[in-house]
Amino acid sequence: MKKFYVSTSIAYTNDFPHIGFALESIQADVLARYHRLLDEEVFFLTGTDEHGEKIAKAAAHEKQEPKEFVNKISDKFRELKEILNLSNDDFIRTSDKKRHWPTVEKVWLELKENGDIYKKKYKGLYCVGCEAFAQEKDLVDGECPIHQKKPELIEEENYFFRLSKYQNQLKKIIDREEIKIIPGTRKSELLSFITQGLEDVSCSRSREKLGWGIPVPGDNTQTVYVWLEALLNYLSALDYATNGDKFKKFWPPDVHCIGKDIFVRFHGSLWPAILLSLKLELPKTIFVHGFITSNGQKMSKSLGNVIDPFELVKKYGIDAVRYFLLREIPPTEDGDFTYEKFEGRYNSDLANGLGNLVARVITLASKINPLPNFSGGQNLKFKKEINKTWGKYKKALEEFKFNEALRAIWELISFCDETIEKEKPWQKENQEVIGDLLLALNEIAKLLQPFLPETSEKIFRQLADPQRRMGEEIRFLFPRLK
Ligand SMILES: [Zn+2]
Repeated sequence: MKKFYVSTSIAYTNDFPHIGFALESIQADVLARYHRLLDEEVFFLTGTDEHGEKIAKAAAHEKQEPKEFVNKISDKFRELKEILNLSNDDFIRTSDKKRHWPTVEKVWLELKENGDIYKKKYKGLYCVGCEAFAQEKDLVDGECPIHQKKPELIEEENYFFRLSKYQNQLKKIIDREEIKIIPGTRKSELLSFITQGLEDVSCSRSREKLGWGIPVPGDNTQTVYVWLEALLNYLSALDYATNGDKFKKFWPPDVHCIGKDIFVRFHGSLWPAILLSLKLELPKTIFVHGFITSNGQKMSKSLGNVIDPFELVKKYGIDAVRYFLLREIPPTEDGDFTYEKFEGRYNSDLANGLGNLVARVITLASKINPLPNFSGGQNLKFKKEINKTWGKYKKALEEFKFNEALRAIWELISFCDETIEKEKPWQKENQEVIGDLLLALNEIAKLLQPFLPETSEKIFRQLADPQRRMGEEIRFLFPRLK
């Protein structure tokens, strides 16, 4: 049995889940569900990244202990499973001393043994927002361009990871697509980043200044750098520390789904370099999504334009939210959210498009006795259309083009609508086509499984017994918005 290991990034627990992470989780979920449909053994991992200075500060600001603070936020991320109907198999937390810490300790000692960790006195500019050292050349007017804040000057004796040693090897790996980067523009971005030169990275902080984290094995005066240990969640969730069965079965990752902000420095270079040092197989694909803007602007609390995925689901339902994010937001570019666009898509594609077709076909079918057999399908035009749809759909999913896969399904929906208009199956002599419509609907439900799992199930239930259900459930599933 083929295996498929897919992950989201682990969410940073300094704040509650935002819509961008909802997008990433849903994209990963579609991949997981699709590969389960292909009969592969899937491991879908998500979780939370809970250490670091930013969290220690946020907790202090709320007058809470860091652990208490992250528990509350991590729980909220765990709830996404239900809120967004995610099918993740596991949820890893970096504050988990039983599951995560032993892997971090083991990896640290292995990196050290391989000569890739050394100690040196260091002076550098640290951006707490990025949880990373900034280079002078990356600053704009002395500030981090992402966080618009002056980084802190830090002078400490730290451990360093020999990232520079892997520069040439990494360049070759990316060039030859031994790790496939999606989209290609990100590959070029990474190559130019590596070519500019990789410097060794500080991989610990003084424990005196930052106690909220994992102590460096054998040196209680230092805390492991949050990024280094967070990346190791992909290993710790598989019980790398004990070389467990899960590790043997699922390593390496097939797809890491991540945001563009954590690509070049972390998943594109530091992470594969760590794996090279450990002599472990590299992830096969890194899929990088863009950001979601709100009405054309960056979402921020001060602008009051933050889209809360919890509220969205409460108002419109899970599948409507999944549909919008997958259909309207381009998978690898930035996309824009507005309520106008959301409701427009909802009415045209879900209420009128899908919902209306299902209700029409089920109503037609419910009126004929016995129910036409739809397993074969009489009309060659239907079979051709269905095959064409599956072809486009599979190709799109292999290329991570979720929007294109959905577009293919909706083309099949339009084809069915046009057929109904043309063939007028409500007239007694034209009823034969209803069998074909039922066949198409059954395929539409299959195609929708990874995307809109709840809706897909409802269509299957209707198809099993159209006489009784009369399309009611579907009509109420996507009631038209005023
Ligand atoms: Zn920053």
